[in-house]
Amino acid sequence: MSEYVKDLVANVKAKNPSEPEFHQAVEEVVSSLEVVLERHPEYRANKILERLVEPERVIMFRVPWVNDRGEIQINRGFRVQMNSAIGPYKGGLRFHPSVTLGILKFLAFEQTFKNSLTTLPMGGGKGGSDFDPKGKSDLEIMKFCQSFMTELFRHVGPNTDVPAGDIGVGGREIGYLFGQYKRLKNEFTGVLTGKGRNWGGSLIRPEATGFGVVYFTEEMLKTKGTDFKGKRVAVSGFGNVAWGVVQKVNELGGKVVTLSGPDGYIYDPDGISGNKVDYMLSLRLSNKDAVEDYAKKYNVEFHAEKKPWEVPVDIAIPAATQNELFPEDAKILIQNGCQCVCEAANMPTTLEATHILQDAGILFAPGKAANAGGVAVSGLEMAQNSMRYNWTSEEVDQRLKMIMKEIHTTCVTTAEKYGAAGNYVLGANIGGFIKVADSMLDQGVV
Ligand code: GLU
Repeated sequence: MSEYVKDLVANVKAKNPSEPEFHQAVEEVVSSLEVVLERHPEYRANKILERLVEPERVIMFRVPWVNDRGEIQINRGFRVQMNSAIGPYKGGLRFHPSVTLGILKFLAFEQTFKNSLTTLPMGGGKGGSDFDPKGKSDLEIMKFCQSFMTELFRHVGPNTDVPAGDIGVGGREIGYLFGQYKRLKNEFTGVLTGKGRNWGGSLIRPEATGFGVVYFTEEMLKTKGTDFKGKRVAVSGFGNVAWGVVQKVNELGGKVVTLSGPDGYIYDPDGISGNKVDYMLSLRLSNKDAVEDYAKKYNVEFHAEKKPWEVPVDIAIPAATQNELFPEDAKILIQNGCQCVCEAANMPTTLEATHILQDAGILFAPGKAANAGGVAVSGLEMAQNSMRYNWTSEEVDQRLKMIMKEIHTTCVTTAEKYGAAGNYVLGANIGGFIKVADSMLDQGVV
């Protein structure tokens, strides 16, 4: 690392204490940018990196609500409006007890580059709450969402900031949030994406993140002259992203043999297909945040408190959450002959594990490139809302496929151009950065 980048990282750590995930995301990105900074001294002269690591705005608020027993509950709500150089802030809302300002800053930082890679005009943002949907009734979830939007509504809007779902926020929650926004503003606009298909949602949005990950993986496999046919795939998580991945892998002739939750993982050697795919939706809606019920229902192995990376597979797709694939997991995957690790979650692989996989010559794609299909179709939802028109599933899927191919090409050609052929992390970071950085230069010191 150059002195400049070292100092920058040290400054970020000093100025943002107790935010390790934000430090990790910044370190990964800025260390890939050294070659760009050498070739383009204007970025350094204009303090582009120093500006990128400072959110344009952070909103933090109290979310009071009353549970089914009549007790008052207080949660913390956030929206990090990270960067609006190339479009309105765009990014999901996460409802999970692990949510802190630092987690959302890391996610909003990643989102800025991811959104840039999609080729669509979207800035970076992220928000959420430490609210835990686990064990909550539907009514409690609605009351929480209404209270959350009662503050958030004044900071968002179709041309300002367009939130969507993330962990703990799916179609149901987006519905409650949208209903409350509409009531407060007396306006029917595309202020959120991931909406229901009857009220402005885009077809394929629920599947988009997972489908996009598989399209991206397919492109990576193509570079090695292979495809999904007959491949065994380990997936972690069991939510919306995993659900999309499973469907598309099945369609392309592969077999997903694992899913996981905070309770452990299930191993289904016959593959997760047919009714089992629909059952994933009930698992998520049960608000239990666990996968053991799958093992009981389909009579397959359940490994408590363990990660699926110990199962021998050809492809691994971490689709749960940040930091769930460690160096020891990377080593087991390599030993078992895994050829490809494609991040479907945001930053599921630690920095050290990433380096181990890359050094072993395994195809490795970072989430900001591979999982960009979700936000890309959110961008297509915004476009349809602006036109007051709906595209068919085929049209949306076609565009999604094209975008994922384009992101793949950007990663490959950028990595080559900067002397690191095959390094998707470097390709994605530089590819996402340049568009944002040049737009910031054009817009002056703001
Ligand atoms: N939460 C998703 C992501 O991490 C989607 C965001 C969106 O659609 O705005 O990219």
